[in-house]
Amino acid sequence: AKNLGKNRYEIFSSSMRSQVLALSQLENDLRRAIDRQEFQLFYQPIVSLDTQNLVGLEALVRWHHPERGLILPSEFVPMAEEAGLIIPLGGWVLAQACRQMQLWQQHYSLATDLQLNVNISSRQFSQPNFVNDIHAVLEDTNLPCHRLKLEITEGVLMDHASDVADKLDAIKTLGIKLGIDDFGTGYSSLNYLNAFPVDTLKIDRSFVGRMSSEEGFEIVRTIVNLAHNLHMDVVAEGVELEEQAEELTQMNCEYAQGYLFSEPTDTVGMEDFLLNYCN
Ligand code: C2E
Ligand code: CA
Ligand code: CA
Ligand code: CA
Repeated sequence: AKNLGKNRYEIFSSSMRSQVLALSQLENDLRRAIDRQEFQLFYQPIVSLDTQNLVGLEALVRWHHPERGLILPSEFVPMAEEAGLIIPLGGWVLAQACRQMQLWQQHYSLATDLQLNVNISSRQFSQPNFVNDIHAVLEDTNLPCHRLKLEITEGVLMDHASDVADKLDAIKTLGIKLGIDDFGTGYSSLNYLNAFPVDTLKIDRSFVGRMSSEEGFEIVRTIVNLAHNLHMDVVAEGVELEEQAEELTQMNCEYAQGYLFSEPTDTVGMEDFLLNYCN
């Protein structure tokens, strides 16, 4: 029994070792991926539930690994955060998305100004020059401040760093919009929600997916009402079914995003979408 135990230990440790090696290899690859232009942005429409109008696009990053093919952000964004690589990657995402958005706004005669939503990780937000860096990208790309909405998570608001409130105020003063992403999955301290100048609350898709149950329905309705009481508008994420869209409309949820309207697509796919939309 002793021997067996030892063997088991060795098997375990060697498979762990190869896992760790694979991870550090991926991290090395990630380090080079920006220079090698292996990242690509996909965009997903956000629509008004009331008018069905397109109101904005969320930029979502993809990685084309030379050997492994397409890698989704759930597999590399956490690693990029840990390694600090989210700083250059996030900078690339922001500049690329702002540039693309300006091109589209000029090319398609869109009746309204489309909002550009960009995900910001807490590590990015906590950079001392965060607000200045964002402002510099907006100036470079000529995207007006009010067109950009930063999607941050509840964790950013809960951070005890003393400059969080100052940064949020500076963002607000510039006219840049703020949204809370994945609402309900994080710490969810309502005190924090009320204390900061947040424009939009995004209901996590795990809640939207449970709307068919009575409890799930009530939870979503409660979140929508909470947001409205705090003078925020609401985006429901992960809307896949007509029924969900109808129920959300009845709850006065303003906006929705999900496969029902469109999956995230590359710029070519997005251009088809915009062409159809403009006609
Ligand atoms: P998120 O910000 O909550 O983005 C929404 C995710 O839900 C996207 O996954 C999108 O493809 C997916 N989605 C949208 N509609 C539906 C639907 O109807 N059904 C289902 N099942 N899924 C839907 P994606 O693109 O894989 O991104 C995953 C996460 O990675 C994002 O979640 C975000 O947290 C992070 N991420 C993506 N791009 C960036 C980025 O540029 N910077 C940072 N910091 N994080 C990013
Ligand atoms: Ca998001
Ligand atoms: Ca989200
Ligand atoms: Ca989410």
